[in-house]
This record gives sequence, structure tokens and C-alpha cells, in this order.
Amino acid sequence: MSVEIEKANPSRPAPTRNMEEIVSLCKRRGFMFQNSEIYGGLNGFWDYGPLGVELKNNIKQAWWQDMVTSHNDMDVLPGAPGVYSMTGLDCTIIMHPQVWKCSGHYDLFHDYMVDCRESKKRYRHDQLVGRWVTVREQRIFATAQSGEEELQHIERQAMKFFKLRNKHKDQLQWDGDVIGVTDLDESAAASILAPDAKTLDTLTDPREFNLMFKTTIGALGGADDTAFLRPETAQGIFVNFKNVIDSTRFRLPLGIAQMGKSFRNEITPRNFTFRSREFEQMEIEFFCHPDSSADWYGYWRDRRMQWYQDLGLSSDRLILREHGAEEMAHYSIGTADIEYAFPFLPEGQYGELEGVAHRGDFDLRSHMEGKLTGDLELELGEDGKPKWKGSGKDLSYRDDLTNEKYVPHVIEPSAGADRATLAFLCEAYCEDEAPDEKGKMQTRTVMRLHPRLAPIKAAVFPLVKKDGMPEIAKQAYLELKKHFNVFYDDKGAVGRRYRRQDEAGTPYCITIDGQTLEDRTVTIRDRDSLKQWRVGLDDCVAAIGEGLNQK
Ligand code: ATP
Repeated sequence: MSVEIEKANPSRPAPTRNMEEIVSLCKRRGFMFQNSEIYGGLNGFWDYGPLGVELKNNIKQAWWQDMVTSHNDMDVLPGAPGVYSMTGLDCTIIMHPQVWKCSGHYDLFHDYMVDCRESKKRYRHDQLVGRWVTVREQRIFATAQSGEEELQHIERQAMKFFKLRNKHKDQLQWDGDVIGVTDLDESAAASILAPDAKTLDTLTDPREFNLMFKTTIGALGGADDTAFLRPETAQGIFVNFKNVIDSTRFRLPLGIAQMGKSFRNEITPRNFTFRSREFEQMEIEFFCHPDSSADWYGYWRDRRMQWYQDLGLSSDRLILREHGAEEMAHYSIGTADIEYAFPFLPEGQYGELEGVAHRGDFDLRSHMEGKLTGDLELELGEDGKPKWKGSGKDLSYRDDLTNEKYVPHVIEPSAGADRATLAFLCEAYCEDEAPDEKGKMQTRTVMRLHPRLAPIKAAVFPLVKKDGMPEIAKQAYLELKKHFNVFYDDKGAVGRRYRRQDEAGTPYCITIDGQTLEDRTVTIRDRDSLKQWRVGLDDCVAAIGEGLNQK
């Protein structure tokens, strides 16, 4: 049976890029809440509400399905350098402390922080930006935290410092562009005006800060029992590589995927959920022969970029940024970040959604031999012995057809589920005009989420609460519920109910009305085109299914 249905995602108007409104909708409609809000909140931690949990689950499921379960390992995929397999793992958050010593996180996973002695605020050194400005022959470097409002903040700071009124703004003589505080030499310290200070030279020297959260194992735990909450899911995959190969019949190339929580004690969590202290990652470690790893790197970089576009991120706001040689480890052939133009960033700036890295055999060899340096040499301690000893286990792979034994190379597409959720929300948020009850055009907020990601797929309304309409609507609702996440609503004017579903991103609304009583047809309304048409009551499941599949 073919049912006429509208596409849920026709050509889309540009999203409204107003971060404050997006944040407010997220709270108002139950996408996201500040964690522990009734106690004043906990900085860097966010909870997902009833709509948010569905959205994030849909994103994770789409990733798992597209990357792992629906992966076709019988034929060469278009564009792929060969046949390959994909499988999954689910590892623990706390792992043996030696894992983090050999991975490099124990020694190297840090940011530099600076404190302001005057305001008592703490900043990430690499996130402070500023501009030189002179007034009455005094030259200072006014700063802000990098982000959307940085220019305005720098100007406000300079005005306050020089005690200038708005009308005397033109006395500010700017020199040069906005640059990072890290670009200044030491002699500039005395001229720096910190982002929240009134006097100069209040910043401490930068100090290293390891981003791993510590915890203690066992009731009597001492220093030797210190463990860490994983800062990435990847290491669970490396240390289980041999287990997967030995317990399955997979041959290389093989991708092992994992999604789950990671923790980083970020110095300045900010920009809503973009930089959180607890977040979820979706990572793949793709193990392959060293000779083909460069091809696989290109394949995964392009495939991951396409995934975001297929689910609705516009190529206008998405870029693939290849790292320059100075940004990459020596052993790496390539690293690319997939970045999105989040509305909280200044025009022309992008934030990382996912990193795709060619990691050579660095990780497997580090877990075999001990921590390696960027040149793949064993790192030695002051006593000339290996700084951190590896497991001593052989993590190489023997090809049973060629009998060749090698340590595989790894391509790592590493994505963040929360950043993806935030990007899809920002991309979906639109304001347009739709007719109200009386046919008058009114502004509406609509979340144009891809049908696969929409938290609720369809809503069912009885037009009025009488004449048997609620009974029919409830039956239709229960039937649809067997197949999709649907919502029943009989409260308020039907126009208001439509608006509420538009804000939730629900692709279709189904209304049971007077005509349903006569001919058992219902109205389906499309979220994006606002078109309405009738289908038979018994065809609703097929109609909604078909509509959701037409991407
Ligand atoms: P950034 O440079 O923004 O700190 P990163 O390069 O350290 O990110 P990776 O270590 O490559 O990030 O982690 C892979 C992915 O995990 C990132 O692309 C991002 O989507 C996600 N991620 C990393 N840190 C955070 C965080 N603090 N909050 C939310 N997501 C994060």
C-alpha cells in the first residue's frame, strides 16, 4: 500500500542563531537542565530531560546502527579501500591505573591554568585573548575569555580601566588584532588587564593541571589505590583488542566501537554542554594493516563528515579541518577535526564535534612495551629504565591467510554525543510564521530535527473532548505506540497543541476530528511544510512510518 505523505525535512530555512533562546527552549521544554539546579547547580554538569534523553539516545542509536550493526561486511563499501568488519564493546569507567600511564594521559593530559589574584577567577591560559589599546599614552592589553562576546568584553574592560564614558569611546586607540595571551612575551605581563580585574598584572604564571578526575579504590585505599575516571573511552578498546580477536572470528581490518561516559576536570567548563566535565563519547578504533592505514584514514574522515550531513547538519556550518604538521604527533599521517559553527562562537569560528586521527601503532605498542614518546621511542625515566612499563603482552596480530605478523595501525574517529546533540539542536532551532486558529500568521518556534533524531515521532490529538473523539484518538495512539515514540494530547486549543509539538521537533501530528466519525479518516499535519492531508485511520502506522523513512 502506498500512502501519500509529505517529506518531513524539505528545503530548510536557515536556523535562528540565538544561543540564549536555544538554551531557554532547552530548559522550558525539557531537553536539558542544569545539574543539581535546586542547590544552585554544579558547573560543567548537565542533565537531559524527557525530550533530551530521547534525542541523545536517538543520536547514539543512529551512530551505533550506521557504524556498527547495519554495516555490510560482505561487499566492499563504496569508497572503502577493502572489506572490513565492525563490532562493539562496553568497558568500565575505572581501569587499571597503568592504562593511563602507558597511554600518556597521566603525564601529558593537562591544560595550563592561570588565576587572577584580584577577582579570584580561574582561566584556561589558551582561552584568554586580548588587544593592545592606548589612552593618554598608557598602553595596556585588555583581555576576555575567547568566545562570542570577546570583542565587546575587551572594549568594556578598557573603558572601565580608563574610566571612559560611552561618548568618549573614540579615545581608545586600538593597535593590532585580537591575539591570545599565550602569544605575548613575558615582558607584557605588567600590562595585562585580566578579564574580570580592575588593575593590571593580576594573573599568576600558568600552571599545569591534569584533567583526569581521581578516585580511590577500596575502603582502606591509600596512595597506591588511586584510580582515575576515564577521560576517553578509547583505551578500553586498545586493552581489549587481543580479547576481541581471540574470542571472535574477525580478521583485520576491524573497527571496534564503544560509547559511554568520559570525565575531564575542565578548568573552565562553558558554552552550555559544549565543554562539560562529564560527557559521553562515541569512539571507533579501526585496526588495519600499516600499508593501508593512510587510505583508511581518508575513508573514515570523509565517512564521518557525511554522517553529520546525512542527519541534517548543513554543509554551510560544518567544516573538515586538517591539522598542520605542527599540531600532529610525529607518527601520525593525518588528523582532521569535524567542526561546527556553533552560535555561541564568533562569526567564522568553529567548535570541534569529532576528531579523526591516524594513530599509527602508538597505542598498542605503548600497552605492550611501555609508554612511548611522539617519536615512538620507549620513554625512559631519570634512572634510564622505561618510565612506565607496559603489560608485556603481545598485542600484535597474525593474519591467518598470509601468516604475516604485525602491530596494526589505528584510525580513531572520536565523537562526542553531547556536542553532537548540541549541534543538532542549534541547527534545528528555527523561527518562522505559521497560521494560528483563525488563519492569522504568527511567529512560531520549530525544531526542525531530522525524523530519525526527533524525540517524539508523532502526536495524536482528538479535536475536541467529546463525541467519541478521545476514544478513537486513544486507540490510534496505542496502535502507533507499538511502533514509534508517540504522544497523546487533548489539552487546549488544537493550534496550541501543534505549537507545542513544533517546539519539541515532532515531525507529524494526527488529529481525530468530526470527519473521522463519518469516514474513519484522520488529518496528518507536517511540521515543516505545515501541509495537512487525510489518511485512513487504519493506515496511520504505515503513513507515519513511510514519512519518517523519507529522508
Ligand atoms: P577540545 O579541544 O574541544 O577540548 P579534544 O580535542 O580534547 O576537544 P578529544 O580528546 O579529541 O577532544 O575527544 C573527542 C571528542 O569528545 C571531542 O571531539 C568532543 O566531541 C568530545 N569532548 C571532548 N571533551 C569534551 C568536553 N569537555 N565536553 C563535551 N564533549 C567533549
